[in-house]
Amino acid sequence: MHHFHYTGQDLHCESVDLAAVAKLYGTPTYVYSAATMTDNFSRLQRNLPGLDVQICYAMKACSNLAVLRHFSNLGAGFDLVSGGELRRVLAAGGNVRASVFAGVGKTEAEIRLGLENGIYAFHVESEPELARINHVAGQMGVRAPIAIRINPDVDAHTHAKITTGKSDNKFGIPLKNAMAAYEAASKLKNLRIRGVQMHIGSQLTEVGPFVEAVKKVSPFVTELKAAYGIEYFSIGGGMGIVYRDALASGQAAWWDAQPADKRPLTPEVYGAALAPLLAPLGVKILLEHGRFMVGNAGVLLARVEHLKRGAGKNFLIVDAAMNDLVRPAMYDSYHEIVPVHRDSSRRALVADVVGPICESGDCFAKDRPLQDVGEGELVAFMSAGAYGHVMASRYNTRGMPAEVLVNGSAFELVNARETFEQMIAGEKIPAFLSIADSGVRKPDR
Ligand SMILES: *Cc1c(COP(=O)(O)O)cnc(C)c1O
Repeated sequence: MHHFHYTGQDLHCESVDLAAVAKLYGTPTYVYSAATMTDNFSRLQRNLPGLDVQICYAMKACSNLAVLRHFSNLGAGFDLVSGGELRRVLAAGGNVRASVFAGVGKTEAEIRLGLENGIYAFHVESEPELARINHVAGQMGVRAPIAIRINPDVDAHTHAKITTGKSDNKFGIPLKNAMAAYEAASKLKNLRIRGVQMHIGSQLTEVGPFVEAVKKVSPFVTELKAAYGIEYFSIGGGMGIVYRDALASGQAAWWDAQPADKRPLTPEVYGAALAPLLAPLGVKILLEHGRFMVGNAGVLLARVEHLKRGAGKNFLIVDAAMNDLVRPAMYDSYHEIVPVHRDSSRRALVADVVGPICESGDCFAKDRPLQDVGEGELVAFMSAGAYGHVMASRYNTRGMPAEVLVNGSAFELVNARETFEQMIAGEKIPAFLSIADSGVRKPDR
């Protein structure tokens, strides 16, 4: 469920007409719904009743300061993966003490930053990392709270680039070596064992792999509780969202119409399956969802530059490109593309939807049926809230897209479109390239 819908013929986010946003702030622009984020957060929390749950929003999915503040206001901590993300939490006024620091290659400086700010725990992925955290904590005269990431070797049935819980990828420590890793940690005197963690992958649309992983790791959680008095079990994130019928899935009726065996995963199903397995463990449960929290809460607004009608093919060229939204190019992912002004009297069109970047990979959709839209009209890429703006780049010297947050009938620019001057601010031409010093002669005229 989300808050993007047509009112009359015009696509709205909550009560805001998206055409008004584009008019004021231009395109390409990401637009987020605060109400959808609130809903996602509350549904997740509500469906794990009776458990001591801390949601640590995986901020790498969308780390705009306004989004972080919104989740922080709702009671979230954060799952962060870099010193930069930690500084974002501080800048947004978020709670580092309810946040965890993940990632396979934390630097000494990042570990120090985490400790200085009272991070709830480091999620550790290897034995050398334990030694490094112990070393930094020793220098600072503190004890570093840690949890070790277990790789439960479960197939998450998701895209190869986003599966993380199989034994053949770089994440975590296999269950059979995990007790030895905890024993090693317990011998390091500047560490404090606080919990245990796992995360099996992203965009999971069935509950089965989550259940399998929790069942596999649960006996170990019990052992750790007895041996080291651990206080929490983080079951990671990874709950998937609807990409294909993104717009329709904003309505409860769409969910009701899905056959039971085809219905995508919901927090209700997730909670019902997992709560009974987690409750007997008697520890705090951390959740690290990213995509589920923000994915359907954002769209990317773009304007049509041209409709190029070819012999066998039409190309809809828009002003957003792979640098703004890289998921289709990187993961072959599908984003529903809808007109901001819907007009049923228009013809249907089949087109490749592409950006202006000089690469064939700059393609959002192939042979996509669309409403006929012409130059200057607006389209929205649905389900673009997660791994959208955060993965944007400046490729082709295109500035980073703007971000807008909607709340009811109010909306505000929460990240200005990057200017050319900002893009080149760190660059310089060294003195040895000046025409006088370089020995290069100006071409004769
Ligand atoms: C990326 C990541 C998450 C969030 O994944 P989503 O699929 O966005 O929910 C959670 N935990 C860890 C350790 C991650 O790396």
